[in-house]
Amino acid sequence: MFANSYKQGMIYEDAILVNHKEALQRAAEIGKENVINGTLGVLFHKTTLVTFDTVDRLIPHLDVKGISAYTPQQGLPDFLDAIRYFCFQEYFPSTGVASVAVAGGMGGIRQAIINYTEINDSIIVPDWYWDPYQGIIEDNNRKIETFRFFENQSFDLENFKQKIDDVGKKQENVFIILNTPANNPTGYSLTMEEWDKIISHLNSLDKKIILFLDMAYMDFAPKEEKQVFQKLAHLEANVFTIIDYTISKSLTKYGLRTAALIGLHKNKAVLDEFENIIAISNRGNYGSVNSVGQLLVVELYKNKALLNDYYNELDHWKTVLNKRAEAFTNHINKGIITPYKSGFFVSIKCSSPPDLTEQLKKENIFLVPLKKGARVALCSMEEDELVTTAKTLNKILS
Ligand code: PLP
Repeated sequence: MFANSYKQGMIYEDAILVNHKEALQRAAEIGKENVINGTLGVLFHKTTLVTFDTVDRLIPHLDVKGISAYTPQQGLPDFLDAIRYFCFQEYFPSTGVASVAVAGGMGGIRQAIINYTEINDSIIVPDWYWDPYQGIIEDNNRKIETFRFFENQSFDLENFKQKIDDVGKKQENVFIILNTPANNPTGYSLTMEEWDKIISHLNSLDKKIILFLDMAYMDFAPKEEKQVFQKLAHLEANVFTIIDYTISKSLTKYGLRTAALIGLHKNKAVLDEFENIIAISNRGNYGSVNSVGQLLVVELYKNKALLNDYYNELDHWKTVLNKRAEAFTNHINKGIITPYKSGFFVSIKCSSPPDLTEQLKKENIFLVPLKKGARVALCSMEEDELVTTAKTLNKILS
C-alpha cells in the first residue's frame, strides 16, 4: 500500500451512488415501474435525463478550433462577461465585481477554500448540508463546523452568530458556506428579511469574513431571489463575498464541469488578488477550465432569440418542479419536513436516517440518508411517486 498517512486505507463510498445502484438493481429484478428512485440530484423526466433543447442545439455549431484549444487560466473573457449576466440578470450588484472560471461548482468550492483559509481552519456550514462539503473540506485538511440551520422552520440567526463568534476566536478568516436559494438538501431559501439581518450582523463584526454563496440551484428558484445581489453590495469592507455559479444545473450540463467564482467587494485590490490567486490554483490543479462549457455559455448569451427560448424552457421545468413539490408537500405530515421553498430537493427529519432509508427500500423506495434525516430528490421523481413516497414516510414515521 502506498497511500499517504492521511489517506491510507480510506474507502470511497457515496450514499447517493450506493442507493442509486441498489435502485437500479431492484428495477432490473422487479421492473422499473415498481421502483421509486429518489437518489440522484439531477433533473429527470420518467427516468430519462432532462437536457435543455435550447442549449443542446448550440453544441454541434461550436467552433472546433475553439473547443480544442486551451482556455486562459482565468477563463475566456467572453465567458466571464456572459456568466455574470446569467448569474445576476437584471439584479447586477452596484459594487466591484470580478470573475474567474472554475471546474464546476465543486472546483469553485475547492479553489476558494484553499485560498481563503489556512490548513486546519474550520469552515462553517449549516447542519443540513450537501454531503460532499465534508469531503472537500477534509480532503484539503480543513475542518467542517456546523450551526443549527433552522429554529421554528426559519433561519436560526442566533446560532449562526454564535458559531461565527466561536470560530472567529480561533482563526483569522471566518469562512462561511451558505447554499441558498433552493438549498440542497432542504429546498430552503433565505428570505430577504433574513438576508438583511445577516448582512447587518456581518457588517458589525470586527473580523474578516469570507461569505461563500453556493448558488448551484438559484435558477430553479423564483427570479426575484436574485435581489439578494443588490443587498450584498451593502456589505462592508470586512466581508468578501464569493459567489459560486455553475452551469451544471442552470444549463443542465453537469458533465461539462464549467462554473465561475464571482467575487464582490468595493476594493479593487481585493478583486485583483482574487483573480490572480484563483487563476494560480486553476493552473496548479487542473490547468484550465473546459472550453466547450465556456463557449456554450458565450454562444447562448450572444443568440438573443435562443436566450429567450432558454428562459422559457427553464420556466417550464421550474413549473414541473413546483408541481412535484406540491404533490409531496400536500401529502406529507407537516411536522416531519424541513421548510421548503423551491428547487430540486426537500428533506425529512428523523432520528435514525439509515434505518429510515433501509425501511423504505423494503417498499421499493430509494432515498438518500443525511446526518439528520433523508433527502427526497424532487428532481428525479414523478408526481405520483412523490405522493406514494409521502404516504409511506408518514406511515413509517407515525
Ligand atoms: N453545490 C451543491 C449544493 C450541489 O448540489 C452541487 C452539485 O450537485 C454543486 C455545488 C456542484 O455542482 P457542479 O460541481 O456539478 O457544478
